Amino acid sequence: MPEKDVTLILDILSKEYGRGAYPGRNSEGLSPEWDPTPFHVLMATILSQRTKDNNTRKASDALFRKFDSAEAVANADIDEISELIRPSGFPYQKGKALIDVCTILIKEYGSEVPSDLDELLKLPKVGRKTANCVRSYAFGLNAICVDTHVHRIANLMGLVKTRTPDETEFALMRITPEERWSDINRYIVRHGQTVCIPNHPRCDRCQISEMCARYTDGIR
Ligand code: SF4
Repeated sequence: MPEKDVTLILDILSKEYGRGAYPGRNSEGLSPEWDPTPFHVLMATILSQRTKDNNTRKASDALFRKFDSAEAVANADIDEISELIRPSGFPYQKGKALIDVCTILIKEYGSEVPSDLDELLKLPKVGRKTANCVRSYAFGLNAICVDTHVHRIANLMGLVKTRTPDETEFALMRITPEERWSDINRYIVRHGQTVCIPNHPRCDRCQISEMCARYTDGIR
């Protein structure tokens, strides 16, 4: 897939979803009530693991209303945090991860979230998806945050042929101009939530169907 085709796909999707999107907001589940600070985006993206956006929003809203800084989370009681974030699932494991991450931020990073990829990847429960979300949505850096929607749709469309989200990230980096990397998550996730729905893609409503291998190959 040539670069110009990915650029065209992103241009079409940005016209479709650019209006009404929260500019700079984390589509992984941070509600507009909260500024997309590195702390908010990191906490919300950890909460978003293995759950739906709606659940993440409920959990992050409840968390930030009570504990809205690295210091507050690090010093919180695990049972109280677990109860607040229960809607996101795995409350004890995620609650422990939030406390551990915030403790490390305080001790090793002066209570700030680092923007460097390698430093982010040292934090518990932070893999490439979470790190890239933070870099893209909170720091405004060029980064491809590959969640299940991006991995699924990139393969369905034939943009990449990969087995894991990390492979998808590297494959997309090769065929996408760097200045458009952050647009991939911003617009393809919206497309996956509204049109290219898992197991029920609405191909008849899809603005990019002519560039989709699944559609043009006749598997509808
Ligand atoms: S044509 Fe269908 S399968 Fe392809 S991206 Fe659009 S909705 Fe998804």
